[in-house]
Amino acid sequence: CFCELKGNVDDCSCTVDTVDYYNNVKIYPRLKSLLQSNYFRFYKVNLHNECPFWKDVDFECAMKFCHVKSCEDKDLPLGFKGAAESPHSKYIKEAQTIGCQEDYNKELDFLNKSISEKQHQELKKWSEHDEAKDSFCVLDDDQEKAEYVDLLLNPERYTGYQGRSAHRIWQTIYNENCFKVQQSSNERSTYSSMMKKNVLEETCLEERVFYRMVSGLHASINIHLSANYLLPEKNSPLAAINSPNGNWGPNLNEFVKRFSPETTGPEGQKWLRNLYFAYLVELRAIAKVAPYLRTEDFYTGFEKTDKEVKLAVNDLLNVIETFPSHFDESIMFNAGSKKLKEEFREKFFNITRIMDCVGCDKCRLWGKLQTQGMGTALKILFSGKFEHNTFEISNGEHITEEKPQFKMRRSEIVALFNAFGRLSNSIYFLELFRNQLR
Ligand code: FAD
Repeated sequence: CFCELKGNVDDCSCTVDTVDYYNNVKIYPRLKSLLQSNYFRFYKVNLHNECPFWKDVDFECAMKFCHVKSCEDKDLPLGFKGAAESPHSKYIKEAQTIGCQEDYNKELDFLNKSISEKQHQELKKWSEHDEAKDSFCVLDDDQEKAEYVDLLLNPERYTGYQGRSAHRIWQTIYNENCFKVQQSSNERSTYSSMMKKNVLEETCLEERVFYRMVSGLHASINIHLSANYLLPEKNSPLAAINSPNGNWGPNLNEFVKRFSPETTGPEGQKWLRNLYFAYLVELRAIAKVAPYLRTEDFYTGFEKTDKEVKLAVNDLLNVIETFPSHFDESIMFNAGSKKLKEEFREKFFNITRIMDCVGCDKCRLWGKLQTQGMGTALKILFSGKFEHNTFEISNGEHITEEKPQFKMRRSEIVALFNAFGRLSNSIYFLELFRNQLR
């Protein structure tokens, strides 16, 4: 079967079988349950931004299932309502208990008053500059039009988004925002023709990693729409479209059409392998940032459930840390490749901006979430803001702990876990399709 993948995942020392076992048995069930908690299901996003690259965005998605329903204040957990939401949830919690919000951080208040307004603006500008410098993705949760969306009520699934609009997005990503493909417009190749020329084999590790992550994400999206497809009701496709909730489930033919050698040549199998690669990169990012995540409150305003989420995250992190071989980011961007790293960051940043050009609300929502999650993973792996502390444990044996020196916004944590959850879900569904094809 074309989806029976063997050997090591490209550019990693870990086998596909190991990923299948760890994901399907250990990680997927834990993650699935965790992502249903209030902390992870509510995602704040601005779906109303204009496309920064072209004016004529085609909304090629006429189905009602493309629609995204945002939350009203009454639907939200206490901790996310109105002004109560803050990345410094610990302080807000204390403020609520002492009943005086303005007073909650006197030290900071003193600092703020002791510097002039002009200095304050200057400092703000520099801290924003510093943050932007390390960022691999656009975060829009603080924009005026950002709204909370309940991800469980707006699942990623088949929407019928296709044709010129969808192809323009993928083509812009591959042809203008991957490496080594900038050519004059009349000789601009499609990604497939580029593959035939084996351009990928000629690229360096960093460029391959970039392409494999994007292609892995693309494969994952296309597996999801095949796994959660609008199925005919009573053998009538029209009845399915008109039914209020739709009848959803796996569509093996759709999966085969998108990945089999008959339709994609040898590429389909490579795209599936890229899914495993993207998974290992995000897995490594979560393992790397685990010490930070263990200090998070996962605050939603309900003490009991927040504690349960903290325990569940800890349990998942323990499993992730026992995974035999993570992706090794230390081999990338060595000696003198500062410029390449900056180019890598800018290109990925641009991909997250292209998501505002997606002409289907549901696809835009999930496209944003997954690219923000991937961007967060890249920031964790490559911002270089980790302190290395080495401790002796026994008999001269040492361990090195990496302590992050940055803060993560709630939307980054939510996007990172949900994006990883999507890749995990795809690997799980791949097994299901594989079993049907056997
Ligand atoms: P496409 O998937 O559009 O691919 C275009 C070309 O890219 C292919 O012809 C092939 O040469 C190449 N290609 C395909 N897969 C890969 C890969 N993994 N790696 C490298 N190259 C590849 N549709 C939904 O129904 N639900 C969704 O939630 C959804 N979300 C989307 C999110 C985004 C950001 C985008 C851009 C599209 C989304 N779509 C979604 C549309 C979906 O991804 C396809 O574009 C659409 O179904 C048309 O598929 P296609 O067979 O024409 O090929």
